[in-house]
Amino acid sequence: MNSLLLTGGRVIDPSNRFDKVADLLVTDGKIAALGPDAARAPADVERMDVSGLVVCPGLIDLHVHLREPGQTAKESIATGTAAAARGGFTSVVCMPNTSPAIDNSGTVALIHERAAQQGVVNVFVAGAITKNIAGEELAPIGSLKRAGVVAITDDGHCVQNNELMRRALEYARMFDLPVMDHCQDYTLVTDGVMHDGYWNIALGLRGWPAAGEEMIVARNILLAELTGARVHCQHLSSAGSVKLLRDAKKRGLSVSGEACPHHFTLTDAAIAGSEKFWRQDGRRIYGFSENAELPSWPSYDTNFKMNPPLRSAQDREAILQGLADGTIEVLCSDHAPHCDYEKEVEFDQAPFGITGLETELALSLMQLHHTGLMALPDLIARFTLGPARLLGLPKGTLKIGADADITVFDPEREWVFDKTAGASKAVNSPFHGWRLKGMAVATIVRGSKVWIENREPARV
Ligand SMILES: [Zn+2]
Repeated sequence: MNSLLLTGGRVIDPSNRFDKVADLLVTDGKIAALGPDAARAPADVERMDVSGLVVCPGLIDLHVHLREPGQTAKESIATGTAAAARGGFTSVVCMPNTSPAIDNSGTVALIHERAAQQGVVNVFVAGAITKNIAGEELAPIGSLKRAGVVAITDDGHCVQNNELMRRALEYARMFDLPVMDHCQDYTLVTDGVMHDGYWNIALGLRGWPAAGEEMIVARNILLAELTGARVHCQHLSSAGSVKLLRDAKKRGLSVSGEACPHHFTLTDAAIAGSEKFWRQDGRRIYGFSENAELPSWPSYDTNFKMNPPLRSAQDREAILQGLADGTIEVLCSDHAPHCDYEKEVEFDQAPFGITGLETELALSLMQLHHTGLMALPDLIARFTLGPARLLGLPKGTLKIGADADITVFDPEREWVFDKTAGASKAVNSPFHGWRLKGMAVATIVRGSKVWIENREPARV
């Protein structure tokens, strides 16, 4: 028998409402015992002292671009899952806007096979809603479900035709699949590259209005009501979206939402450069102080360009509140790697997206927990129970007999993020040089340690 005993950690498992200092025993890749039962493990069992650290169900990121097949210059299953492991994630859901798109069972099988060979964490696959993510004709949803997809989405794109979206929801309901939607009304957004507000005018960049997202969030709520399907709105960025979702949930509709750290940390002022950002909106960042040496970046830095875009301070506040009150039940990264030469162009020309797997736990802890907005069990639930429930995954729990997917992290560890020192192939992160607080120390997948932080704690 292959066993591992984690001793002395604070075990937090929101799925069992468990939060206590306890030992946790893993045997043959499964959770074998917790608490006093675990302490009765054989004397020769491999032990790992995790006292002072948090032990929780392996974190799940349900919004990740692994870029394989077809775009492995940006990222691959091997490097993307390595980045996930370093960030504390034991499961990821990969998005279908690959080349070819994940709109058929063959591509799903290919990803499952590569992930089994080269992935270090669990890879779940999201299939496309429409063929080639073109928004014109439905993908074979039943056959995608049989191939093992856990949801469908056209992420990166958004189905504009409401009738087609209605049919997609009806099929998804029939096959018991959630539909995840990247909410963007093309007629309102047109060719906008940043939030439509003050700064896009000051900087002379085309605006991407919040209403362009809210329009589709509202559409999805109406269609969820019409069809009874489960609709999940991806990477919410605006106060209006949070309000729509909160009201819909009050009416008992089966709708949900997710948020990414960049949207509840940064604002559109960041595109005007670090000086303007720190002066105007920096105070809301945990650890901000007038006297501290703060990270700096130039204006028009394309590492601050993503879709949906960074929005106003009020929007950022609304996302934080939506997470705290449970309106938004999932935290994720929208990890979107690009090659450096693709981002080293004019702001207008650069692709949307930033990496996130290796910074999201720390930024979430900083903005949500260290600020006092959320207790640790609630925050952990957004990374475990929330996504597992939405997708029906047998993950996100430490119950006896479950797969031993475990994350051990130090919520207090301070470190400086160096984008060139990560496991991701890509370096398109706006958080380079940021002092972060909170770090994954061990990532365990089905009982195997896939990431261990070996460095001595940084002296701060
Ligand atoms: Zn998206």
